[in-house]
Order: sequence, then C-alpha cells, then structure tokens
Amino acid sequence: MTKISITLILLISTLTAQSQNTLIKAGHFFDARSGKMLDNQMIIIKDGKIKEVGANLKTTKTDTIIDLSNSYVLPGLMDCHVHITSNLSFRKRNWNDVDVTESNALRAIRGSVFAKQFLDNGFTTIKEIGNDANYATADIIKAIKNGLIQGPTIIYAGKIIAPYGGQSSGVNPEHEHFWDWEYIDADTHEEIIKAIRKNVYYGATVIKMVTGDNGIYDIEDIKVAVSEAKKYGLKVTVHVKMGGQEATNVILGGAAAIEHGFGLDNTQLQLMKDKGTFLVGTDLAFDNWYAYGFDSTRAKSWVDIDVDRLKRAYEIGTKMAFGTDIVINLPGLNRVQSSLKVLENWKLARIPASYILQCMTINAAELLGIEKERGILEQLYYADIIALKNNPLDDIEAIKTVQFVMKEGKVVRLD
Ligand SMILES: [Zn+2]
Repeated sequence: MTKISITLILLISTLTAQSQNTLIKAGHFFDARSGKMLDNQMIIIKDGKIKEVGANLKTTKTDTIIDLSNSYVLPGLMDCHVHITSNLSFRKRNWNDVDVTESNALRAIRGSVFAKQFLDNGFTTIKEIGNDANYATADIIKAIKNGLIQGPTIIYAGKIIAPYGGQSSGVNPEHEHFWDWEYIDADTHEEIIKAIRKNVYYGATVIKMVTGDNGIYDIEDIKVAVSEAKKYGLKVTVHVKMGGQEATNVILGGAAAIEHGFGLDNTQLQLMKDKGTFLVGTDLAFDNWYAYGFDSTRAKSWVDIDVDRLKRAYEIGTKMAFGTDIVINLPGLNRVQSSLKVLENWKLARIPASYILQCMTINAAELLGIEKERGILEQLYYADIIALKNNPLDDIEAIKTVQFVMKEGKVVRLD
C-alpha cells in the first residue's frame, strides 16, 4: 500500500469518526437531578453516549443535527415493574389457564412485541419482574442484544423466588409442581441461595422474591438473599401485597425495594425512608382493577387504597420508583397505554409532575443500580433520550405525546 493511500484511508476514517457526532437541539430540557425544565440546551452524542450538554456548545459541520427546538427533551423513561410476556384475558384473570395453554415460545413472541411498544413510547429501560414462563425474557434480551429485534434495556428477574407454592392457590397435591413454570420454591437459606444462583445462571440481573402470599420470609431469609445477590452485583426486590410483619421483615432484611405494599402503614413508610428502601407502588387505576374482573365498587375501593398510600409515601418522603404491573391490556389500548392509566392515581394523590418524572428516570435508575449509566442526561451517560410534544410539567399525561426516541445514541423513532 502506498503512503498516499494510507494517508487517504486515515483521512477518511477521521472524517467518518467525526461525522458520528449527533447534535440534539433541545428547546426544553428536563434536568432530572433538579426536576426543572431548562431552555435551549444542546446535547452532543458520540458512540452511544453523551459527550457534552450545555447552552452554547461548539459544533462541527459534520455533526448530524436533530432539531427538537419545539419539544420537551427528557431522559428515557423507566418502568420498574412490568410483565412483558404475560397478558391475561380482560375481566377473566386466570394464571392457571395461561400456564397450560401458552408455550414459552408464545410468551417470548408476546414479550418482544410489548418490549418494542415500551421502547417506541419512550421507555428505554424496563424491569421485567418475573412471571415470564420458563425464562422467556432471557431470549428476548438476547434477541435485542443481537440486533434481531428492537427493545429497551431490560433489567431481568428470571423466576420468582418464593416460599412453597409460589403465588398459586388451590392447586391439588397431584400437581404440586404446576407453579415451577414461573416460580422456584425456596424455604431454607440453602434453597434461597440455590434459587438465586439458578436465576443468575439463566441471565437474571435482579432478584425478585415474594413473601406473604403463601409463606412468610423472616428477616434472616431476606438477609441471606441480599448477601447472596450482592456477590453478583444484584439487588433484591420483594413483592409484599399489603404490609404487616412480612413488609417489616423485608425492610429490616435490607432489600432494595418493596413492590406493591398497598397496606404499608406510616411507621413502615418512615422505616423505608430511614433504610433507603424504595417503594415501587404499582398503583393500578380504576380501569386496571376493573380489568381484573372486580366490580366498580371494589375497583374504586382499590383506587382509594392506592391514592392514600401514594400520598402518605410522598409526604413521608419514602423513595419511590415508577412501576405499573399491568398484565391485562385494556380494550383498544396497547400495553403501554394500558400501563399509563396508573398516572390517574398519581394525579389524584397530587404528586407533582416533576417528582413523577424523577420516579421514572433518576430514582428508577438508582433502584435499578444503573444510576451511573442512565436516568439523567449528563456527560458519559448513555444517550437514552426522548422528546415530547407537550410539557410534562404542566400535565404528566404529556408523556403520552412522544415524538422522538433514541436508545444508546441510535434513533428509534422520529415523528
Ligand atoms: Zn407484578
């Protein structure tokens, strides 16, 4: 090869490298740290990450410009409690049916469709929290990583670890392994450790436990799980439907979060604040409870419970991360539209829109252990960026007006 051609190649590769810079002009820019909307900011992106953010940045001619001067630019949103492979019948919620009529393949196909819906609607990270058949989500994650399909970053729980029986009820003794499809029985410290190791082997990046639905874990059980998970850099999050002793055990055992916790009292919410335990409240709205098959009166009373607990958690200052927990799509709505119904409750509880956005970004990232990579738009963070048509600080429902989605520097959607 001649010297000239080598020089040419070098020149071309330098130019190509320079042209990889993407410049976003953000007319309005949500600073997740302060919860404030800043005007006229610029974001320079290179190799999937944010290179610089500021008001008057030096740009080069080769930059690809994305003009979002009229939009509201935010970090990609996060939903910390989803079940992308599950969809139960409207007003006929029966897990047992699903477990025998839907194969792992069908669950993975559904999950890949819902994963794309989350990404297209601004959720660049989700926490898939179990009930995904025989590790169906592990294959979805592989397909996303291989570029076979598009989807958000998925923090993944694998099978749910629970005292004997998982979350099943009414199964006859002849079918005692029926729930193994989605749960691992773990009743001793050794079984808890083994269940965690099994999940890690199959790709889990968070550990999900259930307590109180059948058996109840004591403080030591939770501590054993937390210490085992920590070896792999993972956190433990625990489903506690209401509150009671099982919730206190989870908090004192050092778990990262309580999922649901509809019946947590103020002492427990204060204890969570003191210990840094997150609440992922999964505050289903009226339509979501109704979809479960509840009548209007019962659905309404659940909304009252949601709103009351949300209000108290906010006033006490318990750390919160946004999570939806929708397993039934509402008629005519996709999974994300069905999930975002929960915003009705956040509004009824009068939680400020800026705080809801923080629960969906910076707080969620902290809970998921990715706070140094995602959740805010600052230098060296992944370029997970979305833009909305309307101002979400005026009305949080504006997060339904997504116009632009970028994941790790790649444009997924630009309307
Ligand atoms: Zn759930």
